[in-house]
Amino acid sequence: MSSPRTSRRDFLRLAGLGSAVLGAGAARALGAETRSASANAGQGGAKNVIFMVSDGMGLSTLGLADAWLSFTKGASARWPGMYRELPVVRGLCETASANSMVTDSAAAASCWGIGERITNGVINVTPDGRRPTTLLQKMKASGRRTGLVTTATVTHATPAGFVATIKMRSDQKGIAPQYLERGVDVVLGGGTDYFSDDLTADYRKAGYAHLKSRQELLGWKGDSPALGLFSKSHVPFEVDRLNDPAVGAQTPTLAEMTDAALRRLSAGPDGFFLMVEGARIDHACHGNDPVGAILDQVAFDAAIGTALKFIESHPDTLLIITADHATGGMQLNGVGSEDSVGKAPAYQGTTEAFRRLLQFNRSQEVLGRQTKGLDAKKFLAAAREATGLDFSAADAPKVVSLKGLNEVLVKYVGVSWTSKNHTAEPVEFAAIGPGASLFLPFQRNDEVHAKVLRATGVA
Ligand SMILES: [Zn+2]
Repeated sequence: MSSPRTSRRDFLRLAGLGSAVLGAGAARALGAETRSASANAGQGGAKNVIFMVSDGMGLSTLGLADAWLSFTKGASARWPGMYRELPVVRGLCETASANSMVTDSAAAASCWGIGERITNGVINVTPDGRRPTTLLQKMKASGRRTGLVTTATVTHATPAGFVATIKMRSDQKGIAPQYLERGVDVVLGGGTDYFSDDLTADYRKAGYAHLKSRQELLGWKGDSPALGLFSKSHVPFEVDRLNDPAVGAQTPTLAEMTDAALRRLSAGPDGFFLMVEGARIDHACHGNDPVGAILDQVAFDAAIGTALKFIESHPDTLLIITADHATGGMQLNGVGSEDSVGKAPAYQGTTEAFRRLLQFNRSQEVLGRQTKGLDAKKFLAAAREATGLDFSAADAPKVVSLKGLNEVLVKYVGVSWTSKNHTAEPVEFAAIGPGASLFLPFQRNDEVHAKVLRATGVA
């Protein structure tokens, strides 16, 4: 890995790489770098920041999304691809909160919001009752436009942690007006449940476009601030967006939302700060739903592609990509003789068991909804249809519920879990662009806030 102070050109020279072996995108990024005095070095040089969070992503989830893309597209995921092609500053980030080695998303995002560890469940209120100014408030005060893009409710813990101040993360109706009060320019995701008609009217009066569908988002010119809410609660899982035409028509992808937000934010003269969250990796991992997690990580990876394309033409942008914590302890395990039956030459070492996941056609959330109240026989039929698996005579009687399905699943697809909860391992942290060299190979989550301020010259 390159030294944090190595410029892209130096990195490529050191690595013996030329544009001939780079993708067109990386080569263009290299060209852009020559226009930028120092791609990764120094402080105060980042006009824009794109801060991307894969909520609940452990290293294994990243690896399995990469394997999935290899199987289905014959291509690598962009996140690990960046490590190969670009001089990314890569590190691990510790994930504790003030009261636990195992954080929740509220305390984790509050570390980014105020640079301090606080208690799980709280948004930017310190254990001693202080309410420090949040990162997006500081970015707004510096003249930058600000934005939040997520596949959760927009008032969920991670987006809220960058902006809001509230004692309980569950008070999403208390968070919803704070984005208007604090001047967040673009808010895109799910969660109409938390915005009353009066509140959305207040947003409209303040000049916000109120977007309600994928069509409206794609047609939006970006000529005003925007509040885009595309579902009552969280945005549907990617696996359901892909497999259910009605869901697909209504639901923008994370990459589409990111692209729309960048259109609006980058039109301002003084830069911007945009947070992009792939929120439902965490939710899928809480449910021990392997395809739910992998496909939402694939969707997050596509949004990384959107961000990388943007920084090619905007080299004054610091791009950070990380996770807040991992969830569920997801792993692809060996399952005996099938380990070596891989049929995908593009990805050595993948097992036949993993390939079975490609047949799954809905999230466990949807399967659970569809099978509510059904008897054991009907549940088994629905589980067969949802997974394409041919359960053995010994296993079929166990597949009478989501719990039973999950208990036998590891035998068929190799994926197992350590829990349905968050876990304590350090997470990936990647940065590229001006100020990236401020980040270290190993850091605490509460050190990131101050470094973003230094990178942007805000403090
Ligand atoms: Zn979670």
